[in-house]
Amino acid sequence: MTSDGTSSSAGLAWHAESAEVVLAALACDAEAGLSDAVVRRRQARYGANALPPPPSPSRWRRFLAQCQNVLIYVLLASALVTALLGHWLDCSVILGVVLINALIGYLQEGKAEQALTAIRALLSPQAQVRRSGEHRALPSEQLVPGDLVFLNAGDRVPADLRLLRLRGLTIDESALTGESLAVEKQLAPVAPAAVLGERTNLAFSGTLVTRGQGMGVVVAIGSATEIGRISTLLGQVQPMSTPLLRQLDRFGHWLAWLILALSLFTLLFGALVRHYSLAEMFLAAVGLAVAAIPEGLPAVITITLAIGVQRMARRHAIIRRLPAVEALGSVTVICSDKTGTLTRNEMTVQRILTADNELELQGSGYGPQGRFLLAGQELAPEDLPWLQVLSRVALLCNDARVSRQDGQWTLVGDPSEGALISLAMRAGLDPDAERQAAPRWDEIPFESEHRFMATLHHDHQGQRWLLLKGAPERVLALCAHQQTAGGPAPLDTAAWQNAMTDAAATGLRLLALARRPAPELAALTFAEVEAGGFTLLAVLGLWDPPREEAIAAVARCRAAGMQVKMITGDHQLTARAIGERLGLASEVRVLGGDALDRLDDACLAEVVDDYVIFARASPEHKLRLVAALQRRGEVVAMTGDGVNDAPALKRADVGIAMGHKGTEAAKEAAEMVLMDDNFASIAAAVEEGRTVYDNIGKAIVFILPTNFGEAGVVLVSVLLGLTLPMTPVQILWVNMITAVTLALAEAFERGEPDIMDRPPRPPLAPLLSPLLIWRILLVSLLLVAGSLGLFLWQQAEGMPLDQSRTLAVNTLVMGEIVYLFNVRHLRSSVLNREGLLGNPYVLLTIGILILFQLLFTYLPLMQRLFGTQPLGLLEWGWIGLFGLALLLLMELEKVILNLIFRHGRQRCAGPDDSH
Ligand code: ATP
Repeated sequence: MTSDGTSSSAGLAWHAESAEVVLAALACDAEAGLSDAVVRRRQARYGANALPPPPSPSRWRRFLAQCQNVLIYVLLASALVTALLGHWLDCSVILGVVLINALIGYLQEGKAEQALTAIRALLSPQAQVRRSGEHRALPSEQLVPGDLVFLNAGDRVPADLRLLRLRGLTIDESALTGESLAVEKQLAPVAPAAVLGERTNLAFSGTLVTRGQGMGVVVAIGSATEIGRISTLLGQVQPMSTPLLRQLDRFGHWLAWLILALSLFTLLFGALVRHYSLAEMFLAAVGLAVAAIPEGLPAVITITLAIGVQRMARRHAIIRRLPAVEALGSVTVICSDKTGTLTRNEMTVQRILTADNELELQGSGYGPQGRFLLAGQELAPEDLPWLQVLSRVALLCNDARVSRQDGQWTLVGDPSEGALISLAMRAGLDPDAERQAAPRWDEIPFESEHRFMATLHHDHQGQRWLLLKGAPERVLALCAHQQTAGGPAPLDTAAWQNAMTDAAATGLRLLALARRPAPELAALTFAEVEAGGFTLLAVLGLWDPPREEAIAAVARCRAAGMQVKMITGDHQLTARAIGERLGLASEVRVLGGDALDRLDDACLAEVVDDYVIFARASPEHKLRLVAALQRRGEVVAMTGDGVNDAPALKRADVGIAMGHKGTEAAKEAAEMVLMDDNFASIAAAVEEGRTVYDNIGKAIVFILPTNFGEAGVVLVSVLLGLTLPMTPVQILWVNMITAVTLALAEAFERGEPDIMDRPPRPPLAPLLSPLLIWRILLVSLLLVAGSLGLFLWQQAEGMPLDQSRTLAVNTLVMGEIVYLFNVRHLRSSVLNREGLLGNPYVLLTIGILILFQLLFTYLPLMQRLFGTQPLGLLEWGWIGLFGLALLLLMELEKVILNLIFRHGRQRCAGPDDSH
C-alpha cells in the first residue's frame, strides 16, 4: 500500500478484474466513497483531472496572423514599390499603417480571446460523486482515482471509470474510438486482451452517456485516461469565424481587385492623358490604393463580435459558437421549455385530489410548515389517515432530498419531487425514518419519454409494494381501483377527469400517485409496471409560478417581432393557464402531443403557426417542430436540457441549453448556454445579437466612406487634371491615424433604444443594404467635395500650396470626426446630449485624433516630413464650418429618410434598416 491507500496499480488491467479487486486496489469503500482526507492526499499526488491545454500559437504568429489578409497584402506591395522608388517616408508611413492596424488587432483580439476563454471556463462540467458517505456535485477537475462517480443520460464521462452498478447504460464512444454506434455497458470482467471498444465494463473519459444510469469508480484521471493518451480532444479551438466574416472576406477580395484596377487606371490616365510625371503618378496611385483599402475592417468586426459575446455573458448567456451571435439577431420564433425557464421551478403542492374529497395545502418553500384545509376548514394531518398513506408514496417514490441549512430548507434534486417531500413532512412523516422502514429495492427513474417513476419497496414485515407516480393520464391508465375512505373501489375515470380539468385550468401541474402490492417481485421492469392493476391514491396539483422577468421578456420579444412558443411536457390545460399568465399571445392555442403525432410533416408546417403551446410534448416533437417552423422560413431558437433534446438543439438556428438543469449532451449540441436557465436571458441575448449586427453595420458604414473619400480626392483631382490637394504621403498619414482607431469606437456602442422595437433582420439580407450603399456614396462625395472645395477655393484666393494642402487634410479629418458622431445612430438623431456625449470611447479617440492633427500641423518635424504649414484661426473656422455643415446635412438626411421609410417600411432590409 502507498501512503494514500492505493496499492500500486501499475499493470492492473481494470477491465479484466472483478469489481471487488478494483475497489480494493483503489482502497475505496463502495458505499461511502473516499474520505475527504484521502481525497486531499490523492489530489496532492495525482494533480487535477484535466488534460493539458492545447499549445497556443506564439505571439509572433498571432501578430503575423493579423496581416494575413488580402487588403494588407496590397498595402505591403505598395510599401515595397515606394521603397524601390526610394521614397522612404511614404514607405515608412505605409508600414506604419500596417503596423498600427496589426498591433491594435493583435491587442484587442488577444483581449477578446482571453475573455472568450474565461467565458468558456464558466461551462466547466460537474461530476456527481459520493465522498465521505455524502452525495456531492463538484467540478470534474477535482476527481481523484478511487472516487465513486454517478452517470446519467446526457453526462460526459468525467474520468475513466470501472463500472460498479448500471441500469440500461449506453455510451457513445465515438470521441475515443470513432465508432458511432453507442456501446451497451455491462459489469462482468472481460478478457485482459480486449481492445478499447470491447472493454464494456469501463466508461471512458470524454465519452457521452446516451441512455440509462450507472455508477463507477475512477481508475484514471487527466492525461492517464485513454482520451488523455491519444489527446483527440486537444486543439478544439474555435475559429473566430462566422458567415458574416466570410461574406466580408469575399467582399475584401473583390474590393482589393477593384482598388488595384482603379489605381492602375489613375496611374495611366494621369501620366498619359493629364501628363503628370510618371513618378508623381506612381506615388499618387499608391496613395490612392492605400487610402481606399479598408484595412481595419476585419479587426474591427472581429472585435465587435467579441465584445458582443462578452456583453451576452454578462447577461447570463454564454455563446459557444460565434455564428450564433449573428443568428440571434435574425431569430423570428423562440421555442422555450416551460418549467424552470418560463416558470421559477419552485414547486409547492397546493391541491390534493382524492376519490373522496379535495384538500387545499397552504405553505411555501420546501420546509415542513403548512396548513391543510378541507372546504375552507383547517384540519390536523392526523385526522386524515389516508393523507399519511399517499404522502408515504410521494416520499418513497422520490429521488430528491431536502435539508435544513443555516435555517433555510434547501433542495437537492427535482423541484417537483422536493414539493412532495415537503408535503410528506407537512403530513407529519419523518423522511429518514420512512426510508429506513421501507427500503427501495429497485426503480425506474422518471424520464420525459415515459412520464412516470416507479419504485419497488419491501418493509420489515416482508411486504413488497410497487409505487408509481407520474403524469395522470399515464398513471390512470394503469389503475384499476381508487383508494376511498372505505377501502379500494373501482376507478371512476370520469370523476377524476373533471376534478383534474378544474385543477389544471388554474395552472396547477398534475401528478398522480398509485401503488400495488407486489409480493413476488424481485426486480422492476417496464413490463411489470405496464401490467397495471394499481390503486390510485391521489392526484396532486403543484404550483410553479411564472417568472416575473419572463413575463416582461415575453412582451419585449413580441414587440421585437418574435413569436414565443412554449413546448412542455405538462398537461394542456396547465400549459394554457401558464401561457396566458405569461402573455404568450392574445389567443393562446394549444396543440397536444397526441394530435401532433397524427399530423405528418407537411401538415404540421401548415398549422404550426396557429399554435403557441405544444403540451405533452416529447423531445422528438421538438425536432419536428423546429423542422416545421424552418420549413415556413422561420429562424428558430429552441431551448432544451436533456440528452434527447440534442438533435432539436442542433437542428435549430440557435440551440439554447440550460446551464443548471442541462445535461452536457444538450450543452454541447447548443450554440448558447443560459447560466441562469431564465427565459429573460434569451431576450437579452437577442438584444445584444441585434446590437452586434448593428455595430458591424456602423463600422462598415463608417470605414468605407472615409476610405473612399480619401481615395476620391486623389481620383477626382487626377481625372480633372488638378493640382493634388493632398500629397500621397499626407493621404497615407490620414489613413494611418484614422484607420482602425475611429471605427473601433463603434464596437463599444450600446444598442439603440429602438433595437427591440424592430422586426428581426431577414437572414438572407445582404450586408450592404440599399441604405448603406447610398450613405457610403453620399458621405464619400461630401468628404471629397468639402476638402477639395476648400482647397480649390483657397488656392484661388492665393493661399500657398502647402498651406492649402494642410487645410484640405484637416478638413478631411474633421469630416471623419463629425461623421463618427453621425454614425452612432443610423436612423435617429445624434443632436442631443446622449448622441454627442453618450459613448466615451468616441470622445476619447476624437481627443487623441485632434491632438495628432495639431502636431501634424504645427510641429516643425512633422511640417518637414509631411510638408505641412501652420493654419490660422480663420482657416480653422472654415474647417469647423464644414464640420458643422456636414453634421447638419447628414442629420437632415436621416429625417428625410425616416419620412420615406415611414411610407415604405418593408421595402428595404439590412443590418441597419430592417424596419
Ligand atoms: P418542460 O418541458 O416545460 O420543462 P416539464 O419538464 O415540466 O416540461 P416533464 O418534466 O416532461 O415536463 O413532465 C411531464 C409530466 O410528467 C409532468 O406534468 C408530471 O405529471 C410528470 N412528472 C414530472 N416530473 C416527475 C417526476 N419526477 N416523477 C414522476 N412524474 C413526473
